[in-house]
Amino acid sequence: MMKFIADRMLGKLAKGLRMLGYDTLYYRGEDPHQIIHLARQEGRVILTRNTKLVPKRASDRIIRVSQDNPFLQLKELFQKGHLSLNDENLFSRCLLCNALIEEIPREEAEGKVPDFIFYQQKRFFRCPQCRRIYWQGSHPGNMQRRLEELLHSS
Ligand SMILES: [Zn+2]
Repeated sequence: MMKFIADRMLGKLAKGLRMLGYDTLYYRGEDPHQIIHLARQEGRVILTRNTKLVPKRASDRIIRVSQDNPFLQLKELFQKGHLSLNDENLFSRCLLCNALIEEIPREEAEGKVPDFIFYQQKRFFRCPQCRRIYWQGSHPGNMQRRLEELLHSS
């Protein structure tokens, strides 16, 4: 699976990629040398909307995203063949820190999620970094639905 680093204009795209299970860093800085350096260090592909950001070496990989809307950006990456989608990786990462989330015993979620969610859901997951708890449907609804549509249309 490709690893990405998204520039500061693509924060929502970064979250969308994390929802799909892609290891994606979000670079908030503005230094083009630094983003290229970070990408090289970890073998990441740069995602940007900045037309001035160009590869410095043959091995630098930069994908320029042309769409404005984060969902359409995902679709664009998918249609250009940069993404492969599969259910297994879907919702495997924390949207905030990019860490892989881990399943926890159901009892551990009690009191930490709204009661009705606790009674409704069988499985809970936790981010090892920020401790945020996830469950089926805890991801932002609209994006989740649209990603699932995209997934099942392919
Ligand atoms: Zn987290």
